[in-house]
Amino acid sequence: MNAKDEQWDACPQGTLPRMLQAVEETHRRRNIHRVTSVFAGVLLAAATVWFGVQVAAYSSHRSQDTYADLTCAEVQNVLKQYGHGVLAAKLEERIGAHLRRCRHCEAMRQKLQQPPSHHSWRTLPSPEVAMAP
Ligand SMILES: [Zn+2]
Repeated sequence: MNAKDEQWDACPQGTLPRMLQAVEETHRRRNIHRVTSVFAGVLLAAATVWFGVQVAAYSSHRSQDTYADLTCAEVQNVLKQYGHGVLAAKLEERIGAHLRRCRHCEAMRQKLQQPPSHHSWRTLPSPEVAMAP
């Protein structure tokens, strides 16, 4: 081993700044990654809670408002067609069973079956009266 091998060579110009830059870049990336991870974690937690609430709300609605295997929403969707012979007999039967047990849907059906009121246009003044000076 001679003295020449133990001698330190000067770094080529710009090596140190480049190395520093690389280190800083690594730190920056790690920070971004950490912030992103935390953000994703919070988002995931929020989504999980939201989903849980939705499922809970949906299942509690179903258990409360399902009669004859039909939910109130399903019954109310076809309530206008009910009793006009356009729905399958089996479905009419199930809707009937639902209506016998569900006051809410039955009230809605009675409202829908009321004859349309002509009261509003009868109370309007006749055109002659309306146009008189
Ligand atoms: Zn109902």
